Amino acid sequence: MESHTRSKSFIMPFSGDELDHAETIRTTEQLEVFIKQNDAKCLCLNNGSIAIESTGGLKLIHPSTLIGKKINDPGPVFLGLKKNIPIFSASIVEPNTLNQDLVFEDLRKASKFLSPQEMSLAGRAKSLMEWHINHRFCPKCGQITQPSSGGIKRECNSCSSEHFPRVNPVVIMLIISKNKVLLGRGKGWPEGAMSALAGFISPGETIEETVKRETFEEVGIKIENPKYIFSQPWPWPSQLMIGMVCEAQSEDLNINTAEIEEARWFTKDQVKAVYNKSGDHFLRLPKFTIAHHLLKNWIEG
Ligand SMILES: [Zn+2]
Repeated sequence: MESHTRSKSFIMPFSGDELDHAETIRTTEQLEVFIKQNDAKCLCLNNGSIAIESTGGLKLIHPSTLIGKKINDPGPVFLGLKKNIPIFSASIVEPNTLNQDLVFEDLRKASKFLSPQEMSLAGRAKSLMEWHINHRFCPKCGQITQPSSGGIKRECNSCSSEHFPRVNPVVIMLIISKNKVLLGRGKGWPEGAMSALAGFISPGETIEETVKRETFEEVGIKIENPKYIFSQPWPWPSQLMIGMVCEAQSEDLNINTAEIEEARWFTKDQVKAVYNKSGDHFLRLPKFTIAHHLLKNWIEG
């Protein structure tokens, strides 16, 4: 797929970390060497929140700090090598026992203090850790599975099956009609919180077919020319958001209120006004969302 980004310097939040996943060298022996390396680092998690520096940035500690401390299954996960420095992550049960003065922050709030690349590393750690927490039992035979290869898979000793972390593909689309874009408000969202429509890809569908189906299901309109713009890893818990743009065949909406509260057309000038803070037609989307960047891409295009 051809990628269209706003500029060469643009980095999508939760992406762009130049981490070598080191998939081919994850032997037990090599992982033991990595974790003992003097410059090895560990990103700490606690109940899904991440440790940050009070001055901004991720707080990374040496993995040896965790020896003898209570950490959750699967133990330290090897995220990969960053400029040959081994980077691990671990979910700490009792952070106050580490004597490290760790401050944990929800990743959404922490986005204010982190670079896109740091969010990428934290997002990978969070997604992998949550996959382990929720996949302790074998889906084939129900027995407890064991982490392996530094935490990028789990193995079942009972039926010999292997299990890999899931990434769930989701389409998120700007639906365009002339100089207007369609935005919707999800169930339970605050008044004025509008975003691009989105939906999970279903088995047997192409990306383009999902855009057509989801748009028709949610707002009752037919679309054409679905095109890929850019994508984003989304760590709640582990989605791949596939940013698309398409053209509406009609502006007459038939909103499925079981799926969304409301949907409305906004002109490019209205969206521009929201972005340059001269109008309040809807609440500006957080900068760490792909929807924010899809709209920015559209008004700048
Ligand atoms: Zn099994």
